[in-house]
Amino acid sequence: MTQGEVLYSGKAKTIFLSEKPDELIVSFRDDITAFDGAKKDQLEGKGASNAGVSAFLFGILEEAGIPTHFIRMEDPITMRVRKLNMIPLEVIVRNRAAGSIVRNYPFTEGQYFDPPVIVTDYKDDTRHDPMINDDIIVALGLLTHEEIAAVKASALKVNLVLKAFFDGIGLDLVDFKIEYGRYGNTILLGDEISMDSMRLWEKGTMKSMDKDVYRFEKGDVMEAYRAVSARITGRKGL
Ligand code: 5GP
Repeated sequence: MTQGEVLYSGKAKTIFLSEKPDELIVSFRDDITAFDGAKKDQLEGKGASNAGVSAFLFGILEEAGIPTHFIRMEDPITMRVRKLNMIPLEVIVRNRAAGSIVRNYPFTEGQYFDPPVIVTDYKDDTRHDPMINDDIIVALGLLTHEEIAAVKASALKVNLVLKAFFDGIGLDLVDFKIEYGRYGNTILLGDEISMDSMRLWEKGTMKSMDKDVYRFEKGDVMEAYRAVSARITGRKGL
């Protein structure tokens, strides 16, 4: 593997150029942040937990026919991906009410959404990722209305696959955030899917097994991350 220049360094991952123009190297760091970076720490093993979970979930999504940027893991914290032109949107799928939707609207924490609710945020920390609607997405030139429909259909399919998977390992997929990017003429699922970007509750309870443990100091963050990671790995038979 050739890890070239740093292309971009985010809050928890560093993206490097690779020896191939259409592939990038993503390094999952041990940094954890919340509230637009206002709260930050380093937790040993966090990068490896998130990288492993992300790689596994991209794998099951690919098997279900959802194309992603994932190529392979180079080592436990290093992922080789297709180089996408990222669309600055956070596509959030919610099966149950938690987080900002409870703060902003009269829903009750834990309330089920059937069908799931899709929310799109404009990805810009300086603006605190404001919620965006379809017309603004089109007016900004980010996606056409047809592409928005395709992205939402893909996000719902991702939800079906992940929800069933987590159900099988005793976790309730409350909500998650995904990001998409352009790859030639197609739009692929990019970024990561990890405990940083999902809400997972221990089935039958509302016990957080995700970044809410860190955001709201609900206990030992790495214990939760390792437990999710181990359940996935155990399921994989490794
Ligand atoms: P909420 O809108 O309730 O803050 O977040 C909904 C879901 O999307 C949660 O699972 C949360 O972790 C994820 N999410 C929302 N915004 C971000 C973000 O900027 N970064 C990451 N990693 N996840 C996010």
